[in-house]
Amino acid sequence: MSKPIVIHWFRRDLRLADNPALNAAVDHAREADATLLCLYIHDEHTAGDWAWGGAHRWWLDKSLKSLGDTLSERGNKLVLRAGEAQAVLEELLDAHDIVGVYWNRCYEAFAIKRDKAIKDHIKERGITVESFNGSLLNEPWTIETKTGGPYKVFTPYWRAMLGKGGIHEPSNAHKSLPPAPRLNSENQTDWGLHPHEPDWSHGLAKRWTPGEEYARDRLRRFLDGKIAGYHEKRDFPGDHGTSRMSPHLHWGEISPRQIWHMAVDAHGHPSKTDVTEPYLREIGWREFSYHLIYHFPDLPTDPLNQKFADFPWRNDADDLKAWQYGNTGVPIIDAGMRELYETGWQHNRVRMITGSFLVKNLLLHWTEGERWFWDTLVDGDLASNSAGWQWIGGCGADA
Ligand code: FAD
Repeated sequence: MSKPIVIHWFRRDLRLADNPALNAAVDHAREADATLLCLYIHDEHTAGDWAWGGAHRWWLDKSLKSLGDTLSERGNKLVLRAGEAQAVLEELLDAHDIVGVYWNRCYEAFAIKRDKAIKDHIKERGITVESFNGSLLNEPWTIETKTGGPYKVFTPYWRAMLGKGGIHEPSNAHKSLPPAPRLNSENQTDWGLHPHEPDWSHGLAKRWTPGEEYARDRLRRFLDGKIAGYHEKRDFPGDHGTSRMSPHLHWGEISPRQIWHMAVDAHGHPSKTDVTEPYLREIGWREFSYHLIYHFPDLPTDPLNQKFADFPWRNDADDLKAWQYGNTGVPIIDAGMRELYETGWQHNRVRMITGSFLVKNLLLHWTEGERWFWDTLVDGDLASNSAGWQWIGGCGADA
């Protein structure tokens, strides 16, 4: 008789280290003498308008390969399934003796809705199901104003976060994993994640190496060097003075807890040193974006400040296209937009300048910029992108 199965559902946590849901699944599998199904579901339906863009798909392709290799080295394997997540999971539950399902949480409205429905179904079947915080320093609901509501201004949020403390030590990756069940995996190349006809991804490949190992190496190099000058250098796009951790964080190849503790161990706590403060404060902005999208689920589409709901934006397809492809005639805008198209990334200060140009000079709606960034960024993140564009649009938090 085949052994029972425990599932770890990989989503935006494409790593082994500091992965609380994976740790719980491994413990459960060992206790129950079960196999461990490491599952990734390629679901193009649930996110609706926010399905992955082209640059996302390129990154996902490489990161899944890297994760699959690491799992194989540790005695397991990555099983790939495509389809609507709930249907894929139901099918597995119907066909096999599944005794536990584990995942790390996502915070976008569509993901919360999907996960709640899936959790309810699994519970009804009497199967263990648990979710964890694998991608934030603090759950969005655990930091509140004195009156018990969400923050809309960053600095008091950051102070409250520093005051709260208690950021758990990250856990190490398991050196070996329980064996995988005998289940077939789909063929990743059938998903068409890598662009073809034309393959426009050379610029991305030149700039990036997706995967957990490289994410940690990149962070180590940054902490050994550039962090010392980060405070000043981060304002100059030509200086490469920032960490470029954003895509690795977006895909969960590294966790913010790992970043926090590696930075603090190397250079001290942000409340005590201005080596780590400016850098970890930016990780704080990421947290703040998640705080906002959790409390204001319409952040990607509706102005936080409703005063701007009827703003008379222009509608001009030619101007939009000139901005998108870097043909405005303004050198820094065009350089930034071409860099984005070529490499899937833009420096924060350039995002601010190109965004402001779209919104304040061309008077085009901030959601046009948000959408283009979503389709072209390797780090396109619904929380940070929406919060960034609302800020640019003058209608967001702390704008
Ligand atoms: P570093 O300066 O090294 O910062 C370290 C980490 O802190 C980053 O990797 C990122 O995770 C976080 N961070 C830094 N600045 C911000 C910020 N302003 N808001 C939220 N988190 C921040 N960031 C994304 O990760 N995804 C997006 O889709 C995204 N869209 C943006 C859109 C606009 C219009 C603007 C103005 C900003 C956007 N940002 C986004 C935030 C920021 O520009 C990028 O996180 C940063 O440029 C990434 O480079 P880095 O990793 O070298 O950053």
